[in-house]
Amino acid sequence: CGIVGYVGSQSALEIVMAGLKRLEYRGYDSAGVAVPADGGLAAAKKAGKLGNLEKELAERPLPTGTTGIGHTRWATHGGPTDANAHPHLDNAGRVAVVHNGIIENFAALRAELTERGHELGSETDTEVVAHLLAEEFSACADLAEAMRLVCRRLEGAFTLVAVHADEPDMVVGARRNSPLVVGVGEGEAFLASDVAAFIAHTRSAIELGQDQVVELRRDGVTVTGFDGRPADVRPYHIDWDASA
Ligand code: GLU
Repeated sequence: CGIVGYVGSQSALEIVMAGLKRLEYRGYDSAGVAVPADGGLAAAKKAGKLGNLEKELAERPLPTGTTGIGHTRWATHGGPTDANAHPHLDNAGRVAVVHNGIIENFAALRAELTERGHELGSETDTEVVAHLLAEEFSACADLAEAMRLVCRRLEGAFTLVAVHADEPDMVVGARRNSPLVVGVGEGEAFLASDVAAFIAHTRSAIELGQDQVVELRRDGVTVTGFDGRPADVRPYHIDWDASA
């Protein structure tokens, strides 16, 4: 239901958790975060309110990282449990993905992945994306390209955001029939399902177009279509009152 991503030099976890709080008004049943750090990928997720996730993070702190993603879930496929909460990881635990929307053809993709030896641990439509991304990334070593290849295979409505342990300074996002907005700061960048999540940090935003992928790095953002063609990016100024 809500998505936040960050790349920069501040604590990603703090920015992502604050962003998720700004999106709480939309309603949700679970929450989770992922941070690539120390050569690996750390994640935490909990059913229930953000307070449950905060408690989990206090008891089992994640390593500090400056790249991170977060999600509040409104379940469509699979009940509101810890296992079904996002982020979803591949079997090696190298890639983490969060998702808003519905992947209509997930059952066919799931059968295909199971056939190839993947073990899926949740009942969500989302988890297939983590496994597909891991496969594509191991073939091309380019997270944005992996995301484009996966998106071309998906049907439905989705905002997808992913991080990979091998690309610790990068967040990748994609959208079709579901919103995704990028925030451009000084030496940092944000993305979210709603500008409310990052308005405290930057007023410079880019609305991602239909069937586009964004590559978010500290020093800038690159947008392409699902077909790999570069897209025009024109940042606009968010001028509404942040306290509203
Ligand atoms: N369809 C996904 C799920 O049920 C995402 C739901 C959402 O938009 O939060 O896990």
